[in-house]
Amino acid sequence: MTGAGRSIVACGRRVDIGAPVVLWDREAGYVCPNKRGRAVCAQHDPALNDQPTRPDAEYRVLDPASAYAELKKCVYQLVLHYDACYSALHCHETLKDSPFKGSHFYLDLDGVVYQTCDLYWKTNAAPADDRLGNERAVHVEISNLGPEALASDSEYYRFERDQYGEKDGRWQLLLPQKYREKILTPNFRPFAARTRGERGYFSRRINGKTVRMWDFTEEQYRSLVRLCVGVHELLPGIALRVPCDPRTGRVPLGKIENFATFAGIVGHAHVQNGTADGVAQKYDPGSAFHWARLRQELLKEERKRRGRNANKDAEGPEFFPFPPAFP
Ligand SMILES: [Zn+2]
Repeated sequence: MTGAGRSIVACGRRVDIGAPVVLWDREAGYVCPNKRGRAVCAQHDPALNDQPTRPDAEYRVLDPASAYAELKKCVYQLVLHYDACYSALHCHETLKDSPFKGSHFYLDLDGVVYQTCDLYWKTNAAPADDRLGNERAVHVEISNLGPEALASDSEYYRFERDQYGEKDGRWQLLLPQKYREKILTPNFRPFAARTRGERGYFSRRINGKTVRMWDFTEEQYRSLVRLCVGVHELLPGIALRVPCDPRTGRVPLGKIENFATFAGIVGHAHVQNGTADGVAQKYDPGSAFHWARLRQELLKEERKRRGRNANKDAEGPEFFPFPPAFP
């Protein structure tokens, strides 16, 4: 693959996540079109916090060691999104059309992770209902058309036919040639990891709307777990957990009460129901996203890590400056 490695980067520090990663400076990489400085970090020119987007060379981190210490203190959420696009390339094209949007990671159909900028920078992908969401977060846009794939629900693209086709009980995304040929894995066929009944797609209510969509790919789920673990290693404030409703034992799909203080991995819909003026109502990563699987896999990872740490000489407790989360 052109330029695929396995490491993600924060303030110049790298962690091998055990999944394919293409960084922004590689030939096959994507450069975040709209980086910003985080208001709570001081290792950059504060003029970079606001619009308009400057030339890439102006986004300089002054002292990487201090920047990393600051970043670890202020970032405690990894926010998952569907990108409402065919693929990572399509997502990148869409974000480039905006004067302010961006995302640290794109997760393509074949499980390749693209990191678009150092995690030190802020990207605007989810203001959240208190408008401070991007300051405390890193984001991943996971390629999936979401409700757009269904002709009857398609609002942006106004598709005349459903964008998935069924063959032998498997549902495949019908990817236009232009995007198919840019998927790094040769001849990759994007199948929904799970299907629901004869119609194939999932349908559940999220933040007041019935969201119908086909599932993400198996390759995306596998890489996502690796990405969550890697991001947690770089930024331990992002705990390896997802919201869980203590009454049902399930991951809620819509907004959670402690959306601003939860330290861990959340969906865009968990933090943003559009209650603030000018903030949109959100549903992603949507009704098909397999939260129970992610939760189980993160619990397994946590247990593994605890086992490993118990064997090490204790160096004192790890510092988590955030309030305990829900539940
Ligand atoms: Zn989103």
